[in-house]
Amino acid sequence: MQVDVEVRGRSVLVVGEQRAARRVLRRFRAAEAAVTHLEPGDAEHARLPALVGAAQLVVLVGRPDLLGRQVLGLATRMRRMVVQEVPATDAGGVTLVGGGPGRTSLLTVAAVAALREADVVFYDRLAPTDQLTQLAPGAELYDVGKSPYRHPVTQRAIEELMVVRARAGDQVVRLKGGDPFVFGRGGEEVQACLEAGIGVRVVPGISSALAVPASAGIPVTHRGVSRCFTVMSGHVPPSQDEYQALTDLGGTLVILMGVANLEQIVAGLGRAGMTADRPAAVIERGFSDSQRSTFTTLGELAADARRLDIGSPAVIVIGDVVTVARIDPGTELLGSIAAWSVLDGVIAERHP
Ligand code: SAH
Repeated sequence: MQVDVEVRGRSVLVVGEQRAARRVLRRFRAAEAAVTHLEPGDAEHARLPALVGAAQLVVLVGRPDLLGRQVLGLATRMRRMVVQEVPATDAGGVTLVGGGPGRTSLLTVAAVAALREADVVFYDRLAPTDQLTQLAPGAELYDVGKSPYRHPVTQRAIEELMVVRARAGDQVVRLKGGDPFVFGRGGEEVQACLEAGIGVRVVPGISSALAVPASAGIPVTHRGVSRCFTVMSGHVPPSQDEYQALTDLGGTLVILMGVANLEQIVAGLGRAGMTADRPAAVIERGFSDSQRSTFTTLGELAADARRLDIGSPAVIVIGDVVTVARIDPGTELLGSIAAWSVLDGVIAERHP
């Protein structure tokens, strides 16, 4: 069982060697506890009862050594609350964490655990960042986010930063939007770590390719409607052969990073024979309070995008599954514009 306790202003005694206890100390200090740190070397035996007596919470880092056992004995007698924490190792490493489509509640349990153990976090623009200081208490947080066609910190520099910090013994979290291996350059970052001899783990994330359509009520597959989906980057427009293959394949087409080249993409699909009445949707800023979902057709898509000033980040969905989206009764689906505010993927409310 787990109980959340407010530690702000409370006296907390942390017992453990400095390196091993560094993350625990940082976490409690970040939470504004009144922390006393006791290391194996600096224990004056006579002071122990007073120290334990003054503590509201005793934290033992790692398996109790002689000092730990003495403190544990006193704390038990004095009925102090005791928790045991995992010691931080000196082996640095990198964890690539998929942050999901931007909402903290869509982080995985593994992502939250990795953030909690981080010494340093390098995060991207589309990752959930509003609660990072609580999720990674005391960690150094660096925004290395890229926006379309603007890369303030180059990919190479990000990889170098990760490697340097991991070599210095730090736990590095690279927090990315969605899944690290879906247009996230996660593969390159794994390679960079491995080439540098740095241990690297990957925590998959919920990709916007699936979750953002879902947030507008669009399933990427639907029995009897679509049994395959293709996820494509629109960053560089596809070739005519690719447009042809996509059109011939049928099913659902999900386009990420496609806003800037939307007109070109629509024209290419049209040339390949995709009909203008194909249902289409664009979901901007999925899972944010300003999410807007636009339902239209392939033929109207480019004009609607211009008229509504549709911007990045957005996921474009083309295919019959768009008509499966839950629409308020009385709303005409095709060629009409509808917008909802969305809470955790549940359509909550329709804006006029
Ligand atoms: N690795 C990410 C994708 C990175 S590419 C993932 O798996 O989701 C960045 C693109 O993802 C954006 O240009 C946009 O097309 C899409 N995207 C990511 N988050 C989004 C969101 N919250 N709302 C709409 N589109 C989003």
